[in-house]
Amino acid sequence: MKIDYLIVGQGIAGTILSYNLLKAGKSVRVIENDKRISSSRVAAGIFNPITGRKMVKTWCADWLFPALHEFYPEFEAFTGEKFFHPQDMFVPFDSQEKQNTWMANSAEDEYATYIKGFSKTLYKNELNAEFGGMIITGSGYVDIPLMLDSYRTKIDAQGFFVNDEFDFNELKLTDDGVEWKGIEAEKIIFCDGVGSSSNNPFFNWLAFRPVKGELLRVKFEKNVFEHGINRGCWILPQPDGTCKVGATYNNRELNHEVTEEARNTLLEKMEQLTHLPYQVLDQLTGIRPATYDRRPFLGLHPIYNQLAVFNGLGAKGISLAPYFAKHFTEVLLTGKPLLGLVDISRVIRKYNIKNDVLTKL
Ligand SMILES: Cc1cc2nc3c(=O)[nH]c(=O)nc-3n(C[C@H](O)[C@H](O)[C@H](O)COP(=O)(O)OP(=O)(O)OC[C@H]3O[C@@H](n4cnc5c(N)ncnc54)[C@H](O)[C@@H]3O)c2cc1C
Repeated sequence: MKIDYLIVGQGIAGTILSYNLLKAGKSVRVIENDKRISSSRVAAGIFNPITGRKMVKTWCADWLFPALHEFYPEFEAFTGEKFFHPQDMFVPFDSQEKQNTWMANSAEDEYATYIKGFSKTLYKNELNAEFGGMIITGSGYVDIPLMLDSYRTKIDAQGFFVNDEFDFNELKLTDDGVEWKGIEAEKIIFCDGVGSSSNNPFFNWLAFRPVKGELLRVKFEKNVFEHGINRGCWILPQPDGTCKVGATYNNRELNHEVTEEARNTLLEKMEQLTHLPYQVLDQLTGIRPATYDRRPFLGLHPIYNQLAVFNGLGAKGISLAPYFAKHFTEVLLTGKPLLGLVDISRVIRKYNIKNDVLTKL
């Protein structure tokens, strides 16, 4: 029997896209080698509408945030697990000037939805926050391992999950689809994270720019934080009384080794934020499937339209995936055009297709 979609990878991308396709009545098999290290299983799962060193509204926040707040509770109901944790974020100011700027910003439509208020006293004994800070709303985090595991259990029970290594040598392109290990499908969609940036012979021409990240799990002497905290680094309180602290960005050393350098960088930033005594419990590392223009990669292969990609979620998979998985599902099912912002044809323009071969211009 021929199915509709084979999906390679069950990180955030493969999970949320396959769920949307199943919901639309399509038949799907998700292939995942759970011995690999995935970025999704390391990530803190934060969604935050105002981010970055310069603290600006995140790209497409006004589409992404309503979509994610609708999606995750629905997905919790499907899996029967609680992994979505809306949680306000406190951003302490480091100067009077910042305080004035954000007071002014909060009156503008652009930011008003996401700024809940200001406080001069919140965590005043725990944080170095002499200028007070602002409380961002619409933010929070997803317990990603729990989300992935609960979805996997669900689709495994229905026979839609294949725990295996996907090897490109075993993929056959047929006249009207693909075949892999005896499974015939209309299309195969690569949600293989950084796999697509190197090993994937069909999509390795996409301009990925993988970025290694490390984070710490720490225990503070006092368990006081009820908000995420963000300035220079973020501190994310967890239900077990520990906190995650992150994250580093390194596009030079793309390996999975935890480093003293990253640990020291994070601790230095954390100590600028809080003087609470702490103990480091753990250090985690992963590689974000980021792209040069920091936009996701969605689309069909320019030559073989039985091959597709849903990738490039970079540092923001939790906020990007709900909106764009829904959009890509509509594109695949209805032929609706892909949004140019995320369409891989923005990269194809820089390549020449001749005799079924892509070459860089
Ligand atoms: C330290 C750190 C902190 C982060 N914090 C956040 C955060 O707070 N919020 C946020 O939104 N994002 C965060 N991110 C980014 C987030 O991890 C990514 O956006 C997201 O995980 C990308 O998901 P993905 O499904 O595209 O890729 P991945 O999670 O890498 O998934 C790809 C999957 O494909 C599988 N796969 C690949 N090749 C094969 C093959 N040949 N055969 C079988 N299976 C295969 C892999 O095993 C993997 O499970 C963080 C990342 C790091 C490193």
